[in-house]
Amino acid sequence: MIDLRSDTVTKPSKEMLEAMMRAPVGDDVYGEDPTINQLEALMASMTGKEAAIFAPSGTQTNLMGIMAHCERGDEYLVGQTAHTFRFEGGGAAVLGSVQPQPIDFEVDGTLSIEKIAANIKPGDDHFARTKLLCLENTVAGKVLPIAYLQEAKRICEEKKLGTHLDGARIFNASVKLNVDVRSITDCFDTVSICLSKGLGAPVGSVLCGTKELIVKAHRWRKILGGGMRQAGILAAAGIFALERNIERLRDDHDNAHFLAHELARIDEIEVDLEQIQTNIFNIRTRTDYPGLQKALQDKGIILSSPNYDGWVRCVTHLDINREDAKRLIDEVKSFFVRP
Ligand SMILES: *Cc1c(COP(=O)(O)O)cnc(C)c1O
Repeated sequence: MIDLRSDTVTKPSKEMLEAMMRAPVGDDVYGEDPTINQLEALMASMTGKEAAIFAPSGTQTNLMGIMAHCERGDEYLVGQTAHTFRFEGGGAAVLGSVQPQPIDFEVDGTLSIEKIAANIKPGDDHFARTKLLCLENTVAGKVLPIAYLQEAKRICEEKKLGTHLDGARIFNASVKLNVDVRSITDCFDTVSICLSKGLGAPVGSVLCGTKELIVKAHRWRKILGGGMRQAGILAAAGIFALERNIERLRDDHDNAHFLAHELARIDEIEVDLEQIQTNIFNIRTRTDYPGLQKALQDKGIILSSPNYDGWVRCVTHLDINREDAKRLIDEVKSFFVRP
């Protein structure tokens, strides 16, 4: 099976399952799960933050982060198609009474500094109180430049805004840039990181940040139903993933690059080659996408359905190797040359 829908589809390897079985556990609501504590300490140190907290999903760690920064009637600035705004059920508004102020992304995935500044509301009872800037990295597979992050941090300090990063795929960004992940995390007060995307753990995300914000997030996690008990078996998968699966993200980037360029050579397929930086790329067929999707499915190759403008998102991950990529190319070619 070759599943290109998302990097969330990976299954734990035998070695990862063994690490999970060996994990010492305790009741994490009492703070007594040694493996959770180990994962949180590891993530805090990797990101250069004072503290970290494990939660079941990235949706939850993003929400905990926003709610740690903002109170009822506050507002956060966020990209128009950002995950926290568009794909998390409006949680910040629904559960946090925090209003999003969406801003259109630039083509490179940044929010322009001018637009950020222009959207900060004056201190006046007419307006929600602008408290937080939320960025995403990688964003649709694109890596935000470090110089941009530093500029965003500078304006937020000047305007007294907090900073949160949805870093679901932050290690794809650090590996791509060849920098320590701290060059990215240093620009934010809180950072949410998924263990269950390219890193390959089955479950879990971690929010890293200042002690003060993580204490607040801890309370919100309990209220949101994310306080788990002997969840060290999950944390063990996360530790395993952090120790083994960061540098190999390069393979996913190389495979995405290979696939995108090979597919681009097929006449019936259009590939957005400008946008490909990490493990995500977009393709569009000039003819019969449903036919292709169905034919590939019969061969054990799963592709997403197109979005509203016909582009299909493809994502590489640790369950797709170069042989798989070559097989996929062969199957696509044979679909289009059939009599
Ligand atoms: C996957 C993802 C999340 C978190 O999603 P969960 O499925 O809730 O873990 C957050 N942001 C981005 C950009 C993501 O891709």
